[in-house]
Amino acid sequence: MDKSLVKSRIFLSPPHMSGKEQQYINDAFKTNWIAPLGPNVDAFEQEMAAYLGVNEAVALSSGTAALHLALRILDVQAGDRVFCSSLTFVASANPILYQGAEPVFIDSEAGTWNMSPLALERALHDELRKGRLPKAVIAVNLYGQSANMDAIAALCELYQVPLVEDAAESLGSSYKGKKSGTFGRLGIYSFNGNKIITTSGGGMLIADEPGAIAQARFLATQARDVAPHYQHSTMGYNYRLSNILAGVGRAQLEVLDDRVAARRRIFHRYEQMLGSLPGFTMMPEAEGTMSNRWLTTLTIDKNEAGVSVNEVLQALAAENIEARPVWKPLHLQPLFRNSIYYPHEAKENVSEQLFATGLCLPSGSALTEEEQMRVVTSIRELVEYANRTGQQLKSIS
Ligand SMILES: *Cc1c(COP(=O)(O)O)cnc(C)c1O
Repeated sequence: MDKSLVKSRIFLSPPHMSGKEQQYINDAFKTNWIAPLGPNVDAFEQEMAAYLGVNEAVALSSGTAALHLALRILDVQAGDRVFCSSLTFVASANPILYQGAEPVFIDSEAGTWNMSPLALERALHDELRKGRLPKAVIAVNLYGQSANMDAIAALCELYQVPLVEDAAESLGSSYKGKKSGTFGRLGIYSFNGNKIITTSGGGMLIADEPGAIAQARFLATQARDVAPHYQHSTMGYNYRLSNILAGVGRAQLEVLDDRVAARRRIFHRYEQMLGSLPGFTMMPEAEGTMSNRWLTTLTIDKNEAGVSVNEVLQALAAENIEARPVWKPLHLQPLFRNSIYYPHEAKENVSEQLFATGLCLPSGSALTEEEQMRVVTSIRELVEYANRTGQQLKSIS
């Protein structure tokens, strides 16, 4: 077969290097800082803290590790409860299990797709009545969209429960002019290969309050007490970020704002070319927020569109294009089948609805206009075909 007939793969969200990463890596090699500490790590932490406008940050081996340390710092223990958004990646909730604690899942609201303040309020009220308020609330900012932070933070304040912000997908986004991830007692970011900037794998934990990040750094370095010998009085982890990878992160952070602009441009193009198709609705951007549009996400109402999410996924796969459904809500996962779940309202289950109708499109910041047109054309052709055959069927019957 003619090689040129095989269409090149379009990935959902591949890494996008700036070219300067190699320079920081070379510095690490030249100075022999090939370790999970060193000048790149220190600088990356300071540069992230400055970018976000927070006091302190610690670079870690993953976003999951950052969340785990956040729960350790908040003293989450076996048998405790932790509230968590249901519509998210499993990494948001796994650290709750690491601590032997119990997750309680909170539904989304339609306006942000993130934690529903209504459901959160009902859950806090309910659990308080039962005398078992959670040790923490983990609020996720999905696909770059900030959760309704004013309402969520106010509820956490009212019930005196610490808020942790999972901003793994929302680095570079803002809520009312303040950077996403900086609204809780602690905030976490991820630099996994698919995120808006990457170190191939890595994460960051941030906080304003003095002492929290020092404690995290201590726990992330095997909890070594101050002593000339190796002495340990509590259990720690090996969670630090390599000085080589921190170098990649420094170069990536320099271009973060460009990456946000590129992903927003990609979103707007999709919106122009798909947003007006019947039954297609783009993920909203709530008023007062700026989303990094990490992934362009939309919902498809099959009755209006004539096609289902699954049919679109299949059509894209046939064109060698990677696309995905929206995250499967965690309260529907076999792993969490015994967990408590609070829907938005008794008869309105927003996360399940979004899972049934949601689609994520290729959104990498290096996606070319030509590649994006391939995605758009595949979808438009499928919709046109479905509507033509649909009308023919109607005229026959
Ligand atoms: C990617 C991601 C994480 C985990 O980050 P890792 O660096 O992959 O451990 C956590 N939460 C959400 C919402 C994510 O998308």
